[in-house]
Amino acid sequence: MRYELMLPHQIRKAIAENWPVVLPLGVLEYHGEHLAVGMDTLAVVRMLDLLEQEMDLVILPPFYYGASSYAVEPPEGNGSVHVDAGALEPFARSLFTGLLRVGFRNIHFFIHHQTENFTAGMPTDLAFKFAARQAIFAFIEKERGEGWWGDDKMADYYAQQAGGADPFNWIKGHPLMTPEIFAAYPFDHAGQGETSLMMALCQEGVEMERLAPEKWYTRTAAEASAELGARGRDLILAQMRQALGKRP
Ligand SMILES: [Zn+2]
Repeated sequence: MRYELMLPHQIRKAIAENWPVVLPLGVLEYHGEHLAVGMDTLAVVRMLDLLEQEMDLVILPPFYYGASSYAVEPPEGNGSVHVDAGALEPFARSLFTGLLRVGFRNIHFFIHHQTENFTAGMPTDLAFKFAARQAIFAFIEKERGEGWWGDDKMADYYAQQAGGADPFNWIKGHPLMTPEIFAAYPFDHAGQGETSLMMALCQEGVEMERLAPEKWYTRTAAEASAELGARGRDLILAQMRQALGKRP
């Protein structure tokens, strides 16, 4: 369900049943002459639309204003919009605090931008990961007071952590494509992989006749196809089901 369309009774049900609450996170960035600037975020949004047809899910309004950087092209006339990660962190911390206040404890964000090395992180995902940690610490401390972790009630903390129930799991970030997926599907920027994915998920964001092969990163896009995109889509769906704990 889309959060902005939910009524309070539906929100209470989602909290009681611990539905995943998912933020599509991304950027607006130049993706060659043939792809829409929202590609990275649109891919997450469209994948969640598909996933929602098969599992209970709360989909938050997407956040497009990440730190795109101008590494690919300067913004003038090209469309990239870069918001500094230093500005993202306080925003994200407030957002996560707000969601915790509502009562959600199964919050996720998915991102598909500079995620080829997600463990080390890049500015947008690091800002949101850092914000999540900060929000959780502040939230628990306000609720339970200082010394909450040392309290006897937390004696099973390490066991809880092993079982996935500890508070630091209340908010989790995921790349749209994991290394297992790169092994089976091309990971690129506006090349064959992303172009195919857009063909499969968001045809209105692709104009192949505008492909400009003088950019090295778009050169492989000429080999893109909706069939290949559909394969990527299915691989991504499978990993999202797992990340969100869909019961088989
Ligand atoms: Zn991209």
